[in-house]
Amino acid sequence: MPGQDDLAGEIRELAQRRGFRVGFARAEDMEQYAGIHVGWIIRQPTRRPAEVLPGARTAIVVAAQIRDPAEDLAVRLPGGGWRYPGYGTVAMRAREVCNLLVARGHRAVLTPDAISLKNLARLTGLGTFGKNSLLITPDCGPDLRLEGILTDAVLPPDHPWEGDLCGNCSACVEACPVGALEPFRVDDEKCLVGLTLGGPGRMPPPEVVARHEPRLTAGSHIMCRACQDACPRSRLRDIRFLFTPPGPSQPTQDPQRRLQ
Ligand code: SF4
Ligand code: SF4
Repeated sequence: MPGQDDLAGEIRELAQRRGFRVGFARAEDMEQYAGIHVGWIIRQPTRRPAEVLPGARTAIVVAAQIRDPAEDLAVRLPGGGWRYPGYGTVAMRAREVCNLLVARGHRAVLTPDAISLKNLARLTGLGTFGKNSLLITPDCGPDLRLEGILTDAVLPPDHPWEGDLCGNCSACVEACPVGALEPFRVDDEKCLVGLTLGGPGRMPPPEVVARHEPRLTAGSHIMCRACQDACPRSRLRDIRFLFTPPGPSQPTQDPQRRLQ
C-alpha cells in the first residue's frame, strides 16, 4: 500500500490528467458541518462522516469546471423528482478517484447529499463562499460543480481558504430577479431554482420564470443562473447571453473595477 503522500500525489496526478480539481480535509474537521440542510430537494440533513463510512479519515472534494450553462439542465423524471445530467461529469470524475483508492486497498464511498460540499471545498482551499452563497474561486467564480468522497485512507489535508473574494462587489445580489439574495445567504422561499423544483414559497410571475428558467421541453429547463452569470469571476460570462440577451443599454462591466 503506498504512503499517504504517494497516494495523494497519485490522486492529484489523475486530476491533472483528467482536467478536474481535488482537495483533501480531515474527516473529523467535517463533523462541525453535520446536521445542516444543503438544498431544497435534499430532504435530510448532512451527516457525520463516521455515520456514512465508519473509520473515515479523509474527506475529498472533486470539482469539475462547467463549460456551458446547459450543464445546469434540470430534467423532470416520469415518477416525479428531478435529475441533473450536467452534473454527471463531476460524478464520473469522483468515481475515478474512488476506484483508485479501492485499487490501492482502501475503502471509499461517494457522498451525494451526505456532507456539505461547499464547506468541504472551503476547508480544502478550493475557494470560499461568495455573496451568492455559492462556492466561488479566484479563477472561475461559481463555475465549479462539486462531488465528495469519504475514505479510510489518511491523506495530508490542504489548507482552508482564508479571506474574502467578493470585496465590495454585489453584482449577484443585484442580479437576482426575485430578491432572494442578501450577502452570503439565499432565501429558499424566494429562489427560483428551489421553487421550480418544488420548494416552499410562491412562484413569481410566469414571465420572470420564463426568462430566468428557460424551458427546453415540457419536462426540462435550465435552472436560474442569474447570480452566477453576474459574477465577474465566472468564465461563462461571455456566453451567458444565450439565455438573457444583452440590451443595448447594458454596459460592459469591468470585473476588476467591481472587485476592488
Ligand atoms: S438562482 Fe436565481 S433566483 Fe436563486 S438566488 Fe440565484 S439569481 Fe436568485
Ligand atoms: S458576483 Fe461579486 S459579490 Fe457575488 S459572488 Fe461574485 S464576486 Fe462575490
